Amino acid sequence: MFERIDYYAGDPILGLMEKYSADNNPNKVNLGIGIYYDESGVLPVLDCVKTAEARIADPIAPRPYLPMAGLPGHRKGCQELLFGKGAQILKDGLVATTATIGGSGALKVGAEFIHQWFPQSKCYVSDPTWGNHIAIFEGSDVEVGKYPYYDKANSSIKFDEMIAFFETLNKHDVILLHPCCHNPTGMDLTQAQWDTVLNVIKAHELIPFMDIAYQGFGEDMDSDAYAIRKAVEMGLPLFVSNSFSKNLSLYGERVGGLSVVCPTADEAERVFGQLNAMVRRIYSSPPSHGGHVVDIVMNDDALHEQWVGEVYAMRDRIKAMRLKLKSVLEAKIPNRNFDYITRQNGMFSFTGLTPEQVERLQSEFGIYMVSNSRMCVAGLNTSNIDYVANAMADVLK
Ligand code: PMP
Repeated sequence: MFERIDYYAGDPILGLMEKYSADNNPNKVNLGIGIYYDESGVLPVLDCVKTAEARIADPIAPRPYLPMAGLPGHRKGCQELLFGKGAQILKDGLVATTATIGGSGALKVGAEFIHQWFPQSKCYVSDPTWGNHIAIFEGSDVEVGKYPYYDKANSSIKFDEMIAFFETLNKHDVILLHPCCHNPTGMDLTQAQWDTVLNVIKAHELIPFMDIAYQGFGEDMDSDAYAIRKAVEMGLPLFVSNSFSKNLSLYGERVGGLSVVCPTADEAERVFGQLNAMVRRIYSSPPSHGGHVVDIVMNDDALHEQWVGEVYAMRDRIKAMRLKLKSVLEAKIPNRNFDYITRQNGMFSFTGLTPEQVERLQSEFGIYMVSNSRMCVAGLNTSNIDYVANAMADVLK
């Protein structure tokens, strides 16, 4: 009966994690999956989260279902983080936000919404992008195409090609954009480039879908939301999926949100209703524990401030690792340019290693990165960085 079912090849990034766990090399280093590890190589529990969890745990409370859209404080937390506290569109009721099961859940609900209400629209993702973007949209029967983004030869963005491509698209086609800390390349647009992109989107009546999973890891909470807020300022309709997995270090709690910015409050109400309907038929309502943590941290001024400081400490540690990696590589291979390492933002560095070099790092040194050459810089620390830099220099020579 089930013989005709295809084997699942597994997810390349999650599969790498399993391979790493099984590796007996005492020097092994995990630079595959996009998880922030601290200076001791440990997945941190943020202090603001500990405080929030202590409040939830005492007294131990009953666990009713949450509303389909999640806790109001979770939704408000997403909105203020993305659009800014006191933003006029929030006062005017123009944003429909639902809490979701991580950023992936937000993408899924958004993809289903687009499939149902914009059935002619195709979705265009950057080349390359996080692999699950394609899987999620295709899984919702939205046709996916790629737009030019990364120029491997020059470690830069193919900006002119990208703009020219956008100009060929049809009204209401969806463009999936990474407002900051592009995954997997780490290469972001400048603010001036964002302005140009958004002008083209406006002129051609395209639909921007901004997926922000690393807010606070690039420059700061506000600058990282530049593209989102600029689109709002320009009066564009907009989808935003956000994830708290990385910036609250709550990976397994599955917390995120989907926000849709609409031209009028009436449209926002209609969209909100349909987002609820989507959620109801996919998973009914989101999990409550992480939702309560988000609610508490985002809406308590002191905890919020503490949280922002904790995110910036993670950001700064990653930046320090980039500087160190670059300096060791430059010393080892003086005739090669490693500037790209510090020009990239967020957790990832697209190293430009060939699949063979990535494979050598794994088999000879126990260093794991994704075969497309993406390294999670947040897996580096002062104890392993020399080992990694020397090994990279070895395979590059
Ligand atoms: N979007 C991007 C760009 C991501 O990198 C990730 C996580 N790797 C997600 C969305 C999904 O986030 P979550 O783990 O919260 O589902």
